[in-house]
Amino acid sequence: MSINAWKIQPAGPASDFLADLGLVDHHVHGVVRENPSVESFTNMITESDRTPRSLDEAMNTQVGFATRRWVAPLLGLEPSASAGDYFHRRIELGADHVNATLLKASGISHYFIETGYRGDEIYGPSGMAEVSGAKVDEVIRIETIAEKVALSGTSAKGFAESFISALAKESENAVGLKSIVAYRIGLDFDPTPPSDQEVEVAAGKWLAEVESTGKSRVSDPVLLRHLIFAGASLNKPFQFHIGYGDPDLHLDRCDPLLMTDLIRDFESRNIPVMLLHTYPYQRNAGYLAQMFRNIFIDVGLAINYSGARSGAIIAESLELAPFHKILFSSDAWGLPELTYLGAMLFRRGLGELLDSFIARGDWSVNDALGVARAIGHDNALAAYGLTK
Ligand SMILES: [Zn+2]
Repeated sequence: MSINAWKIQPAGPASDFLADLGLVDHHVHGVVRENPSVESFTNMITESDRTPRSLDEAMNTQVGFATRRWVAPLLGLEPSASAGDYFHRRIELGADHVNATLLKASGISHYFIETGYRGDEIYGPSGMAEVSGAKVDEVIRIETIAEKVALSGTSAKGFAESFISALAKESENAVGLKSIVAYRIGLDFDPTPPSDQEVEVAAGKWLAEVESTGKSRVSDPVLLRHLIFAGASLNKPFQFHIGYGDPDLHLDRCDPLLMTDLIRDFESRNIPVMLLHTYPYQRNAGYLAQMFRNIFIDVGLAINYSGARSGAIIAESLELAPFHKILFSSDAWGLPELTYLGAMLFRRGLGELLDSFIARGDWSVNDALGVARAIGHDNALAAYGLTK
């Protein structure tokens, strides 16, 4: 089967163009190095951290059906092979083969990899470059750096200084920073920097907790605000987790409209803010992208997990957001199936949408191809300042 068999026939000019476009994936994670156990595979193929009762149950979803339909043939199986046959074949071929095959078939030519979550189980940036053959840049999660600093031993008074010097060092060659404040306290936090005094008191309490429990998870609102504003002093593009994610978050507190005042503040500092995932708030994110100079959006993660319905989500992301402010991301973590589907469903969804604009006479072919190239490739390089 041709790897572009997903194209609806007859394909229009935008679908044809997107089929061959090398994509820049501006928010993604590494894939697992070893063959996953069935339990670990079922966990990764669902976004929830609750282990499904069986492989069949785990794959009784849009992403499960899409994997069986579109990924199975890349591993030599019939389209829509059973979940059991799929998993068996994947294990038989081995992680190295499956990783290389699916990452290459994704056609992603440049990954911005965020390394802050369970980084010991997955390939880091150099491993991903090797297994995919693509260019790789890194994004640094600020909370992970703060937690490392706490574990390495610092004082309440010294924390602020140790954090910023550790972050500056770790992110020296990174293209951007990322915050998961949405996971820890939601986005409706006080959008002003805390005072030095407040940071010292909060750091004292937290470090004592880290000392007594050995656990370093940072969840104090004062500290989280400090990490964001200290991070902003480095003047790098800043990714924020928005919307859809695992049940560690309260989704109702992940609407990007809740951080409108922080966005204003970052706009005044000329810091680009990337609103990641955004589902089901992609329309609110599109509004913010239209209103504020510094806002960029994507619908990554929602694309691969919504399978045959992903086109509708992509279409909503193109309602209000200016076309130079929409980015592509897969937000795949662990499974190369998610990377492949993120890219394939993006190509198909955006291609069908733009071809429908051309067919109706709304858009010229040139305009459609320009927007396809921008969203798939050029926008990320421009937004992160990587154009020469
Ligand atoms: Zn992510």
